[in-house]
Amino acid sequence: MAKIVCVLYPDPVDGYPTSYAREGLPGLERYPDGQTLPTPSAVDFTPGELLGSVSGELGLRRYLEDLGHELVVTSDKDGENSVFDQHLPDAEIVISQPFWPAYLTAERIARAPKLKLAITAGIGSDHVDLDAAIKAGITVAEVTFSNSISVAEHVVMMILSQVRNYLPSHQWVLDGGWNIADCVQRSYDLEGMQVGTIAAGRIGLAVMRRLAPFDVGLHYYDKRRLPADVEAELNLTYHASVQEMVPHLDVATINAPLHPETRGLFNDELISSMKRGAYLINTARALIVDRDAVVRALESGQLAGYAGDVWYPQPAPADHPWRSMPNQGMTPHISGSTLSAQTRYADGTREILESYFAGNRIRDEYLIVAGGVLAGTGARSYTAGA
Ligand code: NDP
Repeated sequence: MAKIVCVLYPDPVDGYPTSYAREGLPGLERYPDGQTLPTPSAVDFTPGELLGSVSGELGLRRYLEDLGHELVVTSDKDGENSVFDQHLPDAEIVISQPFWPAYLTAERIARAPKLKLAITAGIGSDHVDLDAAIKAGITVAEVTFSNSISVAEHVVMMILSQVRNYLPSHQWVLDGGWNIADCVQRSYDLEGMQVGTIAAGRIGLAVMRRLAPFDVGLHYYDKRRLPADVEAELNLTYHASVQEMVPHLDVATINAPLHPETRGLFNDELISSMKRGAYLINTARALIVDRDAVVRALESGQLAGYAGDVWYPQPAPADHPWRSMPNQGMTPHISGSTLSAQTRYADGTREILESYFAGNRIRDEYLIVAGGVLAGTGARSYTAGA
C-alpha cells in the first residue's frame, strides 16, 4: 500500500469554512482549446468547497483510504524536521501546489527512494528539480489548464487596478476620506495603451482575448508564432524578441514558464529599455524578474506599477521588499487557486491518481516527466539538463 504525502496551504485563520459566499459553481463544458475537463470516475466533495487547504485535503481521503493507502496532509514543509521531510523517505506519491510549494530539490529526492510520482495540484512544476526527477525515474504530472483562465482573469484585474489606481483609492474609502485628487493623480484609462505579453500560451492568449474589447494595441512575443487567423482576429503585433517588444509597451504581462531562458529576464537593463511609467504584471514566476531591479524601478518611477502574485521563496518572508515597495498591487499566490480552480485541480489530481493506481498512462497533457525524460506538456514547456 502506498503512502501519499500531500502538502497544502494552511486553513483560514478563523477556521475551515462551514458555509460559502455562493452555492456551487457554473458548469463548464471544456477548456477553450478543446481539451476536456478532468474525468475522475467519482469525487468525494462538493464543487466550490475549499479543497486546497489542509482540511480540504483535495477531497482525496476517502478515496485513498478505501483503497488501503495512507494519506498524510500537512502544511509543514520547510525548516528542519518538517512533517514533509519526516514522511518523505516512505512516500510513494507527493502532491504539492505552486501556491505553497513543497520544494522537491535534488537533495530531497535523494532522501525519497520510494518516490514514484510527484503531482502538482495546479500548473507549474518548477518547484520540482526536474533533472533529479528524470534521473530518479519519478513521474511528474500537473493538472494542465485547470487554472489558466483563473490566472488570466487575475492578470486583467491587476492591469486595470494598476492603471486606474484602484487599490490606493479604495484605501481612502477605508480610511474615511473623500480624496478625489489623491486618487486620480495616478489614474489613467487603459484604452489606447499598448499591452504586450511575454508568451502567448494558454494564459497569455486568454489575457489578450479578454483585453481586446478594451481597444488597446496588443503585442506578443512567444517562441512559437500564433496561427495567422488568431493574429488577425485579435489584431496582434508579433515581435521577434522580448527585448524588441518591451520598448513599445505601456503594460507588459509575463506569462512564460520559469526555465533558464526566462530566469532573471526582467533585469535593470531590460526594465530601463521600457517606456518610463510602464506597468509590469507578473503572475508567472517571481524568478523571471530580478527582485531588486523591480524595487529600484518603482522607486525611481521607471515603472509606474508592479503587480503579481508570485514570489520567491513562498511563503514570502515578512521582510520581503516587495511587501513595502511603492505602487505595487501584490497578492499572495492566489490567482490560480479560486474555489472554481480548486474543484478542477482536485478533479484532475484524482484523475491522475486513478490512472496511476490502475496502471494506465496518465494523459499526455498532464505529463511533465515520465519514463526518465521530459514528456507530454513537459517536453514542450521545460528544458532538461539546464
Ligand atoms: P503554456 O505552456 O500554455 O504557455 C507557455 C508559453 O510560453 C508557450 O507558448 C511556450 O512556448 C512559451 N515560452 C516558453 N519559453 C518562452 C520564452 N523563453 N519566451 C517566450 N515564450 C516562451 O502555459 P500557461 O499559459 O498555462 O502558463 C504559463 C506559466 O504561468 C506557467 O509556466 C506557470 O509558471 C505560470 N502559472 C501561474 C499560475 C499562478 O497561479 N500564478 C497558475 C498557472 C500557471 P512553447 O510551447 O514553444 O514552449
